[in-house]
Amino acid sequence: MARVTKSKTKQAPVLLWFRRDLRLADQDAVAAAAESGAPVVPVFILDDSDRRPHRAIGGASRWWLHYSLQNLGESLERLENPLILRRGDSAKTILALVAETGASAVHTGFMPDPGDRTIDKTVHDALTDKDCQLIRHRTTLLHDPHKVKTQTGNPFRVFTPFSKAFEAQVHVRPPTPAPKHLSAGPTLASDKLADWHLLPTIPWDKGMAEEWTPGEAGAAERLADFVADAVSDYQTARDIPGEAGTSRLSPHLHWGEISPWQVWEAVGQAKGHAGVTTYRRELIWREFAAHLLWHYPQLVDQPLRTEFSDFPWRDDRAGETAWQRGQTGIPIVDAGLRELWSIGWMHNRVRMIVASLLVKHLLIPWQTGESWFWDTLVDADLANNCVSWQWVAGCGADAAPFFRIFNPVLQGKKFDPKGYYVRQWLPELKDLPDAHIHEPWAAPEIILRAAKVSLGKTYPMPIVDLAEGRARALAALKQISGRN
Ligand code: FAD
Repeated sequence: MARVTKSKTKQAPVLLWFRRDLRLADQDAVAAAAESGAPVVPVFILDDSDRRPHRAIGGASRWWLHYSLQNLGESLERLENPLILRRGDSAKTILALVAETGASAVHTGFMPDPGDRTIDKTVHDALTDKDCQLIRHRTTLLHDPHKVKTQTGNPFRVFTPFSKAFEAQVHVRPPTPAPKHLSAGPTLASDKLADWHLLPTIPWDKGMAEEWTPGEAGAAERLADFVADAVSDYQTARDIPGEAGTSRLSPHLHWGEISPWQVWEAVGQAKGHAGVTTYRRELIWREFAAHLLWHYPQLVDQPLRTEFSDFPWRDDRAGETAWQRGQTGIPIVDAGLRELWSIGWMHNRVRMIVASLLVKHLLIPWQTGESWFWDTLVDADLANNCVSWQWVAGCGADAAPFFRIFNPVLQGKKFDPKGYYVRQWLPELKDLPDAHIHEPWAAPEIILRAAKVSLGKTYPMPIVDLAEGRARALAALKQISGRN
């Protein structure tokens, strides 16, 4: 392990341990480290371990992380205080850094994921009786997930009362600027970012590179554009996947390149009261997911409604592969999964539709879909992903009931009536008339021929009959309902 090569000052330094809060502005750990007056050692640890409860990040997240760290590193260089990169078990690495530097404190962000909580406990326990404390700051959430409670002191399981209690408890505070100065600590050895090989060796990232600008500046620009153009229409446009009606801030929020306070505040400056209220409600959903994960860490792989543990899921590898590749033969579903593969993101309405087809019509376990999303989303977030999958599968807190089964054709006709979204991602269907774009298998042969669509050749036949799939799902539900 690298050693301190030079000490610029006698004062013990503090470690500034970045996690999913990769920014300098409105970042309480950064502010506290700067205000301590001590030399500051900024550090990021890549922890690849995939042992429960820790989960290694997926492929799309690795891509994002590379550029986000590059960006943060450049910002810190401007403050003449380089980011130290280390790889390994987080707890062991941070404790080694404490020993190496003689740090008096570790300032870091509080993370609600069970893996991070375990790491924090290990670090905290190891530092007891030492002249160094672990100080956790709220860097990624508007509020501490465990502080919102029902009147009886219990966690919430239903969103609306949670959101009312949340709004009553949370006081808006203005975002704070990035520090102008961060006094440098001892010179330490650092890994090279390129040596971490976070970028794919076989490049599949062209679409992602075109769509996203990871990093604090990219996040600020995305927010400014959304506030200028889209917040006022958010309430209606947010459900139309063919329009740029949502903020696309989710990866920036997940990686903490922007704080939820900065977003909360900025949208408040926009015109359109209804859009602002609806948008802030989504930010509260994010808090609710963190609240659930904090109280029910088992939700990462176990259904919160335990009767679903016995649900008769099917093992259908062919169906799973067709779904992953966007080859189900159901256009709105395939468009969503190809959008995901191309840019590492999918519109929320379509996430619900593709998830519903997987867990209901195909009866494939929600964990299978969750794990695909985990690997392919640039915003893959343990709380939001698992809570949302359980919501769709009907087995989570405040979930949509399982028996309410989306018909993907009707969803397509309602939310993509002109087929803009489907045509964008399924060019092989682009010449089909609007009336048939969501249901090519029901189109007359003459229409298909004119649009150069040959079902089973240029585009698949549906892998499941929607009526039969629906009936099979309801029958499966009966098997567990009978036992309640
Ligand atoms: P906007 O509509 O602009 O919303 C603003 C912000 O609010 C988002 O950036 C996000 O941080 C938060 N938000 C919005 N909807 C939700 C929600 N339902 N739950 C929690 N927070 C929300 N979101 C993730 O960030 N990571 C995930 O891994 C994830 N997996 C999902 C899986 C499924 C099956 C479903 C149905 C939804 C999932 N979501 C996830 C929630 C939601 O789809 C995305 O947050 C949203 O599409 C991101 O786009 P946006 O930033 O344009 O959202």
